[in-house]
Amino acid sequence: MGNYNDIVFCVQVCRYTNNPDDEPKCGACGKSGDLWACLVCGCVGCGRYAAGCSLDHWRESGHCYALELTTQRVWDYVRDGWEFIFVLL
Ligand SMILES: [Zn+2]
Ligand SMILES: [Zn+2]
Repeated sequence: MGNYNDIVFCVQVCRYTNNPDDEPKCGACGKSGDLWACLVCGCVGCGRYAAGCSLDHWRESGHCYALELTTQRVWDYVRDGWEFIFVLL
């Protein structure tokens, strides 16, 4: 991940985590809750227990890391497990 992507990610995700009035929604289907932010492009999608848009995003784009917005943990779709990356927001 280069510096450019780091900055894009921070801008996109900080918008959701620092502004409680602006409820985050899935960019694809508009659901709120169980939301994941792509660590590569910052795009927000709902999880596999909702409509699974973040999973679709991984399949379409190959962006394999997603941040769970509620816990701020990172999921690795390729390994299908949690990735221990510290994300400073
Ligand atoms: Zn969705
Ligand atoms: Zn992405």
